[in-house]
Amino acid sequence: MRLDDMDTSDVEVDDQRGSGRGGFGFPMGGGGLPLGRQMGCGTLALVIIIALVFGVNPMRILGGDMAPTPTQIAPQSEASAAGKGCDTDAASKFSCQTLKSTTLTWSRLFPDGQYHPPHIAFYTGGGQSGCGAAQSAMGPFYCPADEGVYLDTDFYGELTQRFGAAGDFAQAYVIAHEVGHHVQKLTGVADKVQAAQQSASRAQANRLQVAMELQADCYAGVWAAQNRERMEPGDVEEGLRAAHQIGDDVLQKASQGVVVPESFTHGSAEQRMNWLKKGLESGDPAQCDTFGR
Ligand SMILES: [Zn+2]
Repeated sequence: MRLDDMDTSDVEVDDQRGSGRGGFGFPMGGGGLPLGRQMGCGTLALVIIIALVFGVNPMRILGGDMAPTPTQIAPQSEASAAGKGCDTDAASKFSCQTLKSTTLTWSRLFPDGQYHPPHIAFYTGGGQSGCGAAQSAMGPFYCPADEGVYLDTDFYGELTQRFGAAGDFAQAYVIAHEVGHHVQKLTGVADKVQAAQQSASRAQANRLQVAMELQADCYAGVWAAQNRERMEPGDVEEGLRAAHQIGDDVLQKASQGVVVPESFTHGSAEQRMNWLKKGLESGDPAQCDTFGR
C-alpha cells in the first residue's frame, strides 16, 4: 500500500510515549471501564499471529515490553496535538498515514459530513485509554468510549524494523480493521450489538461478537478496495494471509491443539478471509452485512 503522500498534519494524535502515563501505576481517575468495553481485536492473539505471519519470536514481543514502565508524576499533556507524534518514527508515520487514508475514504462513503475520524494513540509498554489500561499484549484495539485507535509502537517498530519501513499491508489492514470498529460505533451497530449481548446467552453473545469482528474485516477490505490504485502486487495475498492466521480456529489450534467453535470471538480463518475478500472485491460497505447471514 503506497500511502507516503498522505498529509498527516491534521491527524489527531494522543502520544503517550514518554509522558509518564504508564498504564500500570498511574490510573487516570476511576480506573476506566472494564476491559470488556474495549473492542479487543488484538489481544495476546494478535501478537502471536503477527509472530506467525512474520516469523517474529513472540517472546521477543511479549518479553521486555511487558514490563511496566516506571511511572513518574509528569505533566499530563492531554491535549492531542494534530499531527504531532506522527513523525516520531517510521511506524508512527505509516500508522498516521493509514489513518488519514481511512478518514478520506470513510468521509466519502458516509453521507455528507456524517463521518469524523477516531484519534490515534501511541504508547509503549503501557498506556491509558478511555476503556482502561492499554497493554502491549492486547495488541492494537479500538476504544469506543474515547474513539481512539490504540497502538503500541514498540510492537509496530518491531514489524517495521524487520520488514522494511512503510508499506506493510498487514499493518495497514490492522489499523483499517480498528477503524472499522469506529465505523460501527458511528453507524450505531456497536451499541445495538452491545445491548443485544446483555440479554443473550454466552453462545449468542459470541456469535454477535464474531459478526462484529467479521464486519470490521470487511470494512478493512472496503477501505483497501477504495484505494485500489495505491495497492501493490502481493497486498491482497498478504491481507488474506494475515486474515487467515488470525482466524480463531487457527489460533486455538496453535495454542491449545483443539478447536472450539462455540468460543470463537473473531471468526474462523475461512470466515475472516471471506469477509475481507468481500470488502476487497465490492468496495461497498453495504455488502458487509455479517449479521444477516
Ligand atoms: Zn476487531
